[in-house]
Amino acid sequence: MSRPKRSIIWVCVSCSAALPSVLLQAPRLPKAGETIHGYKFFIGFGGKGANQCVQAARMGAKTAMVCQVGKDFFGDNYIQNFKKNGVSIAFAKQTEKAATGAASIIVNDTGENAIVIVAGANMLLGQQELQHAQSAISRAKVLICQLEINPDASLHALRMAKENHVKTIFNPAPAIVDLHSDFYKASDIFCCNESEAELLTGMPVSSVEDASRVGLDLLQKGCGSVIVSMGPQGCVVCQSINVAPKLVPTITVTAVDTTGAGDSFIGALAFYVAHYPTMQLEEMARRANLVAAVSVQNVGTQTSFPFRKDLPAELF
Ligand code: ADP
Repeated sequence: MSRPKRSIIWVCVSCSAALPSVLLQAPRLPKAGETIHGYKFFIGFGGKGANQCVQAARMGAKTAMVCQVGKDFFGDNYIQNFKKNGVSIAFAKQTEKAATGAASIIVNDTGENAIVIVAGANMLLGQQELQHAQSAISRAKVLICQLEINPDASLHALRMAKENHVKTIFNPAPAIVDLHSDFYKASDIFCCNESEAELLTGMPVSSVEDASRVGLDLLQKGCGSVIVSMGPQGCVVCQSINVAPKLVPTITVTAVDTTGAGDSFIGALAFYVAHYPTMQLEEMARRANLVAAVSVQNVGTQTSFPFRKDLPAELF
């Protein structure tokens, strides 16, 4: 008698946009109709959810990405990058109905940029595709979502996770002003940076006191807990409206490129939530700070994310 096939359980699932980027560096941005010579060309494999998933996987989490790409050059390479990073592509669908979404970024010598994003196949990620990933979402330890896909799809995925007692980490990025109130209720951990917190609450965030105030405001909207990341200062953790928010400081490092620091932080956080269910959130945030601090000392986004072997043993 053949044994029933055991299906795989991914501990960390990301329902997110597949957004490869083409980065071009040139002395200046071209004017309309102009062709200029640049000096650097680089293909990255974002967006945020993919980055977060890759960081969690590099720390040792069994991760899966739920996304849609086209059957094209970028889609093929995008899938290949997940394979290289040990992220399951069982729910990364390649479609012929649309091209892979992509971001084209031109950066000049003074750091200014011009960006065009085309959502492409990401717009086809809807409830039906999420249903197809039901087995992964409902049995994961943690689900991470952002706002780079259709917000309805993100909310649906968060609700699916909540219904199945899966911990949810929601990163409201890029932030939208009128975020549906159910996003707060569906977030066990609502994790945003200062500018996202500002946009969502309409309150300025330029100090730890400000971050504490907006953290409590977000908490009151129904989140389980809130983390406001604050770049070199670390992050503020809010867990209860009756307890003062806590600044969890990070270490001082020489930052060379902070692109993707937030994604490294959230990926690491997801790893800790999945693997250390009894760990205090402040301790998870302290460790995620230290992982992200490694990432800012290297250039690029995924290229700067540390692997488990690059991190001190005390982080595990
Ligand atoms: P985002 O990338 O979304 O703007 P932040 O800039 O707040 O997010 O960074 C996220 C996390 O990365 C911070 O909470 C911190 O842990 C780490 N980090 C960012 N910048 C630095 C820095 N200059 N030095 C040390 N850690 C940093």
